[in-house]
Amino acid sequence: MRKYVILGVQGSGKGTQASMLAEDLDLVHIAVGDSFRWNVQHHTKLGAQVRRTMAAGLLIGDELVEGVVRQRLADHDWNYGFIIDGFPRNERQAEFFLESYDIDGVIHLDLPDSEVRRRVLARRLCSGCGMDYNLLANSPKEAGKCDACGASLVTREDDTEDALAVRLREYHEKTNPVLGIFRRKEYVVTVDARPDCEIVQQEIRKQLDLPPYTG
Ligand SMILES: [Zn+2]
Repeated sequence: MRKYVILGVQGSGKGTQASMLAEDLDLVHIAVGDSFRWNVQHHTKLGAQVRRTMAAGLLIGDELVEGVVRQRLADHDWNYGFIIDGFPRNERQAEFFLESYDIDGVIHLDLPDSEVRRRVLARRLCSGCGMDYNLLANSPKEAGKCDACGASLVTREDDTEDALAVRLREYHEKTNPVLGIFRRKEYVVTVDARPDCEIVQQEIRKQLDLPPYTG
């Protein structure tokens, strides 16, 4: 049984790394954002609370987040373990998590802010079909036009320098104390998230004493 937490800023490839690890080791990849959506879509009691909170324009509180995580982990569909992504987001949630589950490791994907900026500001969205592009990795055949439908590519409203600076500041303010709590328990492995995803995956495994990634 292996239980991991993965932490990383937007653009660090957190979802990709979690999926690669989960698929190969038969872990359940728990993306907390997806669990929220699942509860809302399936009209559960927790989903109703989430919907009411959001309709009132309020932030989803720690108790509700913990409720969703607790319920998701109570499903016990994780025979070989899990990797959780998108949680904990603050000190309180980290304390709750440590009290409730004995974890094996925390993977911290480290990406300098300058690289986050480069990656995030290269994102484009098709104004026609909604397909995602990243000008660094998969630019369209014809500049500024969607390969699939030919509509023009646009930048997401919240992918501006200013908005990103705010998100980065918030991320560090919240994540540093969480990392501090996990570091005191000696759970954290920090991996440089700049190289290609296979290289990052190998490094994660090396640091966690896991078998190498074979694709
Ligand atoms: Zn399109």
